[in-house]
Amino acid sequence: MQSRMQPLSAVELDAAYAKALPNSQQLFARAQQIFPDGVTHDNRRMQPFPIYIERAEGAYKWDVDGHRYIDYWMGHGALLLGHSPPQIRQAVIDQMQRGTHYGASHAQEVEWGEWVCRLVPCAEMVRFTASGTEATHMALRLARAYTEKRRVVKFAGHFHGWHEGLEVGVQPPYNAGPEPGQMQEAVEAVALCPPNDLAAVRAALAAGDVAAVILEPTGGHFGTVPITAGFLEALRAETSQAGALLIFDEVVTGFRVAPGGAQALFGVMPDLSTFAKVLAGGLPGGAVAGRADILAFLDTKAAGQAKIHHPGTFNANPLSAAAGVAMLSAVADGEAQQFANGQAAMLRHGMNEILAREKVAWRVYGKHSDWKLYYGADAPPRDGNDQSVDDVPWQRLDSRHPQQSSALRQALILKGIDFNGGRALVGTCHTDAVIAETLAGFAAAVRAVKEHGLA
Ligand code: PMP
Repeated sequence: MQSRMQPLSAVELDAAYAKALPNSQQLFARAQQIFPDGVTHDNRRMQPFPIYIERAEGAYKWDVDGHRYIDYWMGHGALLLGHSPPQIRQAVIDQMQRGTHYGASHAQEVEWGEWVCRLVPCAEMVRFTASGTEATHMALRLARAYTEKRRVVKFAGHFHGWHEGLEVGVQPPYNAGPEPGQMQEAVEAVALCPPNDLAAVRAALAAGDVAAVILEPTGGHFGTVPITAGFLEALRAETSQAGALLIFDEVVTGFRVAPGGAQALFGVMPDLSTFAKVLAGGLPGGAVAGRADILAFLDTKAAGQAKIHHPGTFNANPLSAAAGVAMLSAVADGEAQQFANGQAAMLRHGMNEILAREKVAWRVYGKHSDWKLYYGADAPPRDGNDQSVDDVPWQRLDSRHPQQSSALRQALILKGIDFNGGRALVGTCHTDAVIAETLAGFAAAVRAVKEHGLA
């Protein structure tokens, strides 16, 4: 149902979208009967309904209405090599033929763990979990066990999974109280600091009760608000001095910004690190890795000494381990990351040229295998190189622009390109030809959005 308040142009775009995607619309009608919001992940909500995908390969995915899309979701960041790359596909098929769950230890988990410890500077030991959310949950438990302190410092706009200990201050207005069902005590145990604000961190650490400082090491939401130079080094020094642990949540950055993640790229060593996404090669899986004396709290102790209990049916599942080994061994030399970074830079450049040409005051930015759209620029970019958002206050960078992002997303889908409306992930599958096709589609979509009065 269209809201009467919507401008006619948005309604027109909705109508074109609905006309092109009847099978997706029908599936959504069924989904609404059984799923809250009709979806299975909050970020997959879409107006007037999401697209339903049938298969994917390389840079592409195909929907139930027979349309092909260039994909910039890349499995929420899990797919650095694109969809179903041959070496991962074969590893998973081979493993499938030998069984999916042994209820026992297996060789693949050892090899997978060895890859993590080989590639990640802080990883003296590692523990696998079933997701990134579980990994950050475990990292907090370890930090509290090790320091015997309770509070945790996190940053506004940084996301660390949905468990109640860290689902605090992720969205504007950041300082809201507990979400429904979340305990007040959980929120109170978090000292929320503005991103890149060292004075605020110092003030929080001064209380002496902080177990850990956790952050996304390139900035919240994979650098939507980029980390400022020197901030990680400063955090390292401050936490060491205060007796608090430093945790890098490398669920997105891990193995993506460099084979050893952001800690290798920036040369700053955290005490603990969390991983998921690329770690498991496109299958479910997570891990916490770091100092052996901290992970020792998972070791069985002498009689009478407590440990952190950590079962988990799908920890180091053989299928995920097989995909993870295939992925980590394929990206260990850094060539894949370098190529994906270069392709992303080319896309950002081309998109900003289009925005400059069309005189649309948005800006495309990003630093790694990503591109992000800032919809609130004061002036159109001057040329493709005009990608800086350094002058933009962090709250504006992190704010949502639902009308523009939804319109652009719909317009791009109609041109055969799918991204989440704000941020995009790039993989080695995004070849020069795919980029040329993307830029042509982007130019047409920007013009369409402009014609509809939404840019
Ligand atoms: N941390 C970060 C930085 C993330 O981006 C995410 C997921 N987007 C998570 C943690 C949670 O990971 P998962 O979805 O595997 O639970």
